[in-house]
Amino acid sequence: MDSLLLVPLECGWLSTSASSVVAGLDGKVDLPIPSWLVIHPSGRTLVFDTGLHEEVVNGVGARYPLMARQFESRFSSEDQVSERLQGVQIDPLEVDHIVFSHLHFDHCGGTSLIPNAQIIVQKAEWDSAHHPKLIEHEVYNPADFELGHDVAKVQGKHDIFGDGSVVCIPTPGHTAGHQSLKVNLASGPVVLTGDCVYWEQVLEGMLLPPFGFDHEMQLQSMRQLRDLRDVEGCKLLYGHDANQWAELRQTPAGIS
Ligand SMILES: [Zn+2]
Repeated sequence: MDSLLLVPLECGWLSTSASSVVAGLDGKVDLPIPSWLVIHPSGRTLVFDTGLHEEVVNGVGARYPLMARQFESRFSSEDQVSERLQGVQIDPLEVDHIVFSHLHFDHCGGTSLIPNAQIIVQKAEWDSAHHPKLIEHEVYNPADFELGHDVAKVQGKHDIFGDGSVVCIPTPGHTAGHQSLKVNLASGPVVLTGDCVYWEQVLEGMLLPPFGFDHEMQLQSMRQLRDLRDVEGCKLLYGHDANQWAELRQTPAGIS
């Protein structure tokens, strides 16, 4: 293989009232839970976010009683990140890196299924995810990610393969150390926004969740992503965009 490949992996769905994720919206929303596989031309691999924990097969409340008040899941064993990786002929035991946008439960639940990877996370996120009050409120659950992996706690931009092809870009605000991932595909650069932007209309309206680490900081990060799109020509792939996800599902073999 000589070009970088990005493969969307569908790791289940959550549904909730729209107002519980974006302040001021009505109705219900269905949120795809993506994980993303990146295959470098050298053969090295990374997974950006790991989806839901295997116990969520029995419902959100089976693992996260407080989150179950807000979220319903559609998640079966075939939606586990390890199954999705095997479905595209990648052995989860051989994945080199896990990059976390952030450590909320729908982004790091499948981490135990990729046991030999090095974790790459912003130091501010790792530190925040060990804060006792946030753990008590189920914002974070260290049992999801504190599993003995080698952890690289990075600060600021981070070039994963040392060749500029895949770069972590800090986009804090949703959480203390949230980051996005720029992937320089042959067809043009894309940015995995993570939860800095849930879906496209949220960016158009500069809408915010009813919670978060720092709203002003998140707006600044959203403007940064908008500039990457409008000034630098990056395609944004959003964190939980059901419409965009329906298009991406047409490319199960990946985007190069
Ligand atoms: Zn999320």
